[in-house]
Amino acid sequence: MPLKLYNTMTRSADEFRPIEPGKVGLYTCGPTVYNYAHIGNLRTYIFEDILKRALIHVGGFDVKHVMNVTDVGHLVSDADEGEDKMVLAMRREGKTAEQIAKHYYDAFVSDMERLNLLPPDKWCKATEHIPEQKAQVEALAEKGYTYVIDDGIYFDTSKLDDYGKLARLDVKGLRAGHRVQITKGKRNLTDFAVWKFSPKDQQRLMEWDNPCGIDGKGFPGWHIECSSMAIEHLGERLDIHCGAVDLVNVHHTNEIAQAESALGHKWCNWWMHGEFLTKPKGDDGEAARMSKSSGEFLTLDVLIEKGYNPLAYRYFCLNAHYRQQLAFTWKALDAAANAYSNLQHFIPELRKKWQYSKVENPDYEQLMWDFFDEFNTAVYDDLNMPRALAAMWKCFRSGDLQPHKVYPTLLKMDEVLGLGIKNMKEKELDRDLLLTIQNLQSDLANYHKTAEELIDILIQKRTEARKNKDFARSDEIRDELAASDVELFDSPEGTTWRKKG
Ligand code: AMP
Ligand code: ZN
Repeated sequence: MPLKLYNTMTRSADEFRPIEPGKVGLYTCGPTVYNYAHIGNLRTYIFEDILKRALIHVGGFDVKHVMNVTDVGHLVSDADEGEDKMVLAMRREGKTAEQIAKHYYDAFVSDMERLNLLPPDKWCKATEHIPEQKAQVEALAEKGYTYVIDDGIYFDTSKLDDYGKLARLDVKGLRAGHRVQITKGKRNLTDFAVWKFSPKDQQRLMEWDNPCGIDGKGFPGWHIECSSMAIEHLGERLDIHCGAVDLVNVHHTNEIAQAESALGHKWCNWWMHGEFLTKPKGDDGEAARMSKSSGEFLTLDVLIEKGYNPLAYRYFCLNAHYRQQLAFTWKALDAAANAYSNLQHFIPELRKKWQYSKVENPDYEQLMWDFFDEFNTAVYDDLNMPRALAAMWKCFRSGDLQPHKVYPTLLKMDEVLGLGIKNMKEKELDRDLLLTIQNLQSDLANYHKTAEELIDILIQKRTEARKNKDFARSDEIRDELAASDVELFDSPEGTTWRKKG
């Protein structure tokens, strides 16, 4: 079955083939560490994690994953204008650049762990790769792709016939429509800084010697960070490069211009972009992208403070295909949290049944192949997680009949889903009940039952004991259940039970 992945460059879901058989180089644009990641950013990292898990566990590839950490201050707009984001954060928090970067990097790593995101094989901090970035600027300058103006070294996009190919930009139309240049001396509207000079009358908090033998200090352009670090750690030809859709028009377009001009050949084969998490439609009926500057700043910590399990947010994201916008509402998150807690409730029971049934079924290592194939087909179809989840639930629901196959199948599916099925804990009630059952009887068949079924069986046994006037036995059952926080209520209609507390 071919693994099909949508490629923004070709605008189609094409069969994925790595450059070197069996191996995949994956570069994902990472966090800017001057603030916490919001749950929109995290949606993109969840999509990239699903991609990586699918490549490893379903595709069987050996994946080398590199993610950058933008800890150099860049300017607030895509057009190399405005204030430096790092300086803004330093002013806001009264801390040094290193303190700011460390704090938000640590927070990001903790978000990743709580969302079950596999860590990259290599984290690349921009501040630790200044020589590589300068070397790429110099390579571009030597080949005649750059020009120097008052405020920096710029890439001349008119030198490339295919500039903007990823975004399919109408470059001529754009240039014709914009006669006034924002930056003095910039030759073309689409030109961008590969290196910015520090202002002459002011010392910047983060600055380095200029490249190309130019006197003075400065700092790298935003895009040069990714193109130079990706080449440094993943080589001259890259399999897959990811981010969210906002990176297509400028950041990834400019990365391509730099990398391919510096290398002199095609650079990356697959460009994959996740759609936005949006805020609910406003009065104007428009769904707006969730961003750091607009409205309530929702982080994973905010969700946790409100009582949500971080993996319920992961589950919420898997409900939509990564190329579809997903509107965040509390109601939709509640629905996902309910579904997730259903899993959490029943998985330990299923695991228990599997543990007991594997003694009786030597073929316990077998999988539910129908459901597993359905699941993998969905994954192979451009990571269709809503369909993969549906296959997972179908498999889950057949658990009562064949737990010895269902549980191992769910574990295999979870290698891609990352919902933490293996670690879903037994509820206290279940653990105590198991002890109760072990104390009261040795009937192995009962170990296949859910906690509720076991309680019903014990109630029946107690009723029988009472009928036989074996009050010692009936009290024993009542006390054992009470020790498991299960209270019994006798009435003329029979006995009912309730969990205490
Ligand atoms: P940033 O930290 O702003 O550089 O963004 C980190 C990642 O999150 C980038 O890949 C962005 O494209 C992506 N991103 C930003 N806003 C959203 C959003 N609302 N939904 C999904 N991804 C986003
Ligand atoms: Zn990037």
